[in-house]
Formats: sequence, C-alpha cells, structure tokens
Amino acid sequence: MTAQFQVTNLNKNFSSPRGDVIALEGVSFVVSQDEFVCIVGPSGCGKSTLLRLIAGLTEPTGGIVNFSGWLSTPRRAMVFQDTGLFAWLNILENVAFGLETQGIAQNERHQRASELIARMGLSDFARHYPYELSGGMRQRVAIARALVTEPDILLMDEPFRTLDAQTRLVLQDELLRLWRERPMMVLFVTHDIEEAILLGNRVLVLSNRPGHILAEIVVPLEQPRNLTGRSHPEIEALRWQIWKMIEPTVQANLKRAPMQ
Ligand code: ADP
Ligand code: MG
Repeated sequence: MTAQFQVTNLNKNFSSPRGDVIALEGVSFVVSQDEFVCIVGPSGCGKSTLLRLIAGLTEPTGGIVNFSGWLSTPRRAMVFQDTGLFAWLNILENVAFGLETQGIAQNERHQRASELIARMGLSDFARHYPYELSGGMRQRVAIARALVTEPDILLMDEPFRTLDAQTRLVLQDELLRLWRERPMMVLFVTHDIEEAILLGNRVLVLSNRPGHILAEIVVPLEQPRNLTGRSHPEIEALRWQIWKMIEPTVQANLKRAPMQ
C-alpha cells in the first residue's frame, strides 16, 4: 500500500473580537508518497492554516488529517516564507538545530548539517551568521535545516515569496533537483500560479476564504523540468485556466475589508 495522507472534510474556524473567521471549509484531498503537490490560492484563503494543520501545529475545528501506509508517524518539516533562522547561531548551528530535538549527539549533528550545507553550495558560509547572507542564501539554509531531519513530508509555505525573480528561479530549480535526488512528499504553498505549475506534478486550487478546493489539476510536464524553458504553450494554457478560477475572488478581495 502506498503511503499517503488524506485530508477529509477539514474545517478550521478562528474566533476574534470581530466575530468568527471560517478559514477552511470542507477541504478534502489525498497526497501520495513522493508526490510534489502545489497548493495555489489568493492571499488570505487559508493556505498557511492548511499547512499548519497538516504539520500538526494546530488542530482542526472539524474533519480529519489521516496518515496511512507509513511505518511510523511520518516526519514532517516546514519551511516558511520568513526563514525563521536564529540570528545568534551560525549557519552550521542553525542547520544542526533541527536534529537537537531528535536527541542526536553534537558530532553527528554537525556532520549531517555540514553535508547538507555542502549540498546547498554554502560550505564557505558555515561559520557565518544569517545577517551576513543574502536572502536567497538564507532561504537555502532554511531548506537545509528542514532537509537535515530527513523528513517524509516537506511542507513549504511560500518559501520564495520575498526573493527576486532570478534568485527564485535558481532556488526553484534547486528544489526540484533536491527532490529528484531524495524523493519525498512535498506540499508547496504559493500564491504564484506560474510557480505552482512549474514545480508541481499536481496543483490544488484553493478558493477564497473559506478556503475549499476548486480544482485539482495534473500538470502535463515531464520531470526533470527545464525551468528556463518557459514558453511551453501548455503552461500558458494552464496558467490562464487557473487564473480564471481565482480572478473573481481576487477582485472580490479588493472590495472588502481584510477581516470581514
Ligand atoms: P493564507 O496563508 O492563504 O494567506 P491564512 O491561512 O494565513 O491565509 O489565513 C486564512 C484566514 O484565517 C485569514 O482570514 C486570517 O486572518 C485567518 N487566521 C489565520 N490564522 C489566524 C489566527 N491564529 N487567529 C485568527 N485568525 C487567523
Ligand atoms: Mg500564508
């Protein structure tokens, strides 16, 4: 049986002084081992909330997140938009930090962290501190910190959002390479339709809040992909198809207060 996780009829409400916010309503989908799935949706539709639910960082109001076919509870690691690196730790210590909670001895922690830092092309910066690195390098460190724990499921929340377009392209390419070298389940959240199509084998389109799945689209591009070959007509058609689904909600968002 293929290992997978299944989200069934997931709901999430938040209470606030201005009333309840229904972030997610009736979200259901399945992701199988080693799949690279992107979740795309307008700002505020519940993407981060969905990832946090899958990561086990918060509890659903209703519905279930179920993992099946794994030998033990799958290890999950998360990469955020703001890298969350510790300013007072150097790069080696930042990457090794993820292993500390697993009770791994310092020698092994540092060895595994060094290997990943090398894979990310950052060996010369292992003793540097985060403020000494560019945004792209810091995001690489954040990815290394997640991968060092050898996760079964990598959850990424708009990790490249703050990067310039060229750096983003390089990191997108690197991420696909890392995933090919060591396949794992990846759930990649983005508001960028093109990014979702370029990276994902499948794209889940989330509606405006309360977020629910509008469509599941299989991307008809082979892996490995050449991300610089951006003029594929299939990509253009898909981008248009997804934009047409999201556009009304983006328009509606522009006409209402943020917390309505
Ligand atoms: P996205 O990541 O798609 O931009 P979020 O998942 O961050 O969306 O948020 C979805 C909705 O839930 C938003 O309206 C947001 O204000 C609300 N929300 C998210 N987290 C909380 C929280 N901890 N408390 C109250 N409201 C929240
Ligand atoms: Mg978010």
